[in-house]
Amino acid sequence: MTPVGSPTNPLRVAIVGAGPTGFYTAGHLFKQKDLAVTVDMYERLPAPFGLVRYGVAPDHQKIKSVIKQYDRTARDARFRFFGNVEIGKDLTIAQLRRHYHQIVYTFGAQSDRRLGIPGEDLTGSHPATEFVAWYNGHPDFREHQFDLTRTAAAVIGVGNVAMDVARILARTPEELYETDIADYALEALRHSQVRDIYVLGRRGPAQAKFTTPEIKELGEMADADITVPAAEAALDAISAAEMEGADRQMRTKVETIQSYADRPGSGKSKRITLRFLVSPVELIGDDTGQITAMKIVKNKLVQKEDGRTSPTATDEFETIPVGLVFRSIGYRGEPLGDIPFHQRWGVINNTEGRVVDVASAEPLPGEYTAGWIKRGPTGIIGTNKPDALETVRHMLADAQAGILLQPDAPDPQEAAATVAAGQPNFISYADWEKIDAAEIARGAETGRVRVKFVSDAEMLAVLGRG
Ligand code: NAP
Repeated sequence: MTPVGSPTNPLRVAIVGAGPTGFYTAGHLFKQKDLAVTVDMYERLPAPFGLVRYGVAPDHQKIKSVIKQYDRTARDARFRFFGNVEIGKDLTIAQLRRHYHQIVYTFGAQSDRRLGIPGEDLTGSHPATEFVAWYNGHPDFREHQFDLTRTAAAVIGVGNVAMDVARILARTPEELYETDIADYALEALRHSQVRDIYVLGRRGPAQAKFTTPEIKELGEMADADITVPAAEAALDAISAAEMEGADRQMRTKVETIQSYADRPGSGKSKRITLRFLVSPVELIGDDTGQITAMKIVKNKLVQKEDGRTSPTATDEFETIPVGLVFRSIGYRGEPLGDIPFHQRWGVINNTEGRVVDVASAEPLPGEYTAGWIKRGPTGIIGTNKPDALETVRHMLADAQAGILLQPDAPDPQEAAATVAAGQPNFISYADWEKIDAAEIARGAETGRVRVKFVSDAEMLAVLGRG
């Protein structure tokens, strides 16, 4: 047998998860010239692109143009897509190990972090991640209910997901119409009674995680005003010291927040109130278990020994009436099968993308990870490109050193047969292209960029499969 990585015996790679990182990983593998490589990409959902399709806000269509790049990768003759195939259910990891020399786990962070306060699970309290998945037409979340008859909502956290949620709640139906927002969400938001949107940061403006374009955008909404209590927009001594070394981006961000200080309303029908140095301590409900208010505590900042700026609660409390709460405090990765997992960090146990056994601290030959499930839910989509490259470099070095899985059936046809046996309704890339074209055509009929299919059944029906 010729060595693995030669044209007659290419390095066979399985990628688990068809989000941005999966595609960047495949792209890097195809770009290098040292080894012949083929890639099979597995995805639990029928549609590819992960958070670009189901996370990026529908009113941020430009960000979704990265899909063109993923499309080019997918059209490479060395690439196959197996959508609607859940690893761990339709196909086991052990089965993957039989067919590939290397496996890369790029399945992202599926879950959300918890606040750990009383009332967190009252009716009306939701992880922001679920609201995001719902308005983006994610098949698992289309049946979720969000009671938009409430007039006041709180978004906890000041990252970019919090910005997305606040913006979608504040947009007019006209602004949302032409986007690819799920049509049921468009309809529900059209009748939304939410008028007051509170966005809560536990630290100060200098420590806000959102980026400058996002906070600027919130000040330019067609029918929503924004305001920040002046006392909370001001910097304390610790933050002022932090700002001395700050770059231009950071300065603009803080200046933008401060430009909203005590900004009076201009008569728009919705109002976003950005709060800083406050933490929810309890969600309060009525006898039916429905949230009616949120108790918050004011914080002050302290500098920790390791240099981190932390919030500490004071003894000043406040209660804000709200009927909806979106907890936007970060995603969290979930373990899969027997893949070594770092429970506390919520990531696959790894060193620079090489999966590492927890007990022995030894790398598992042929198993790798990249993206959020490797480093945690941080960074923008593009951050995953260099992250995937780091992993791919190790994969190539290991392949050249002969450190690989030892598959007993490293044959593309055999792998395809295993998939078909586990999930006869798998979706190929050509299938996906038909679904994609059908969504775009539905959009064109109604002046929208696309109208998404929101269930597996609808997508399979496009392909003539019942
Ligand atoms: P994030 O950026 O990590 O923000 C999480 C927020 O939750 C922070 O403000 C954090 O405050 C706060 N938080 C955490 N625990 C809390 C607690 N117990 N109580 C109160 N607040 C708490 O996470 P994200 O917003 O989920 O975004 C994930 C990643 O996706 C980020 O890298 C983000 O930039 C990216 N993203 C980008 C875009 C875009 O480019 N437009 C859109 C969406 C998401 P502390 O800072 O004090 O911890």
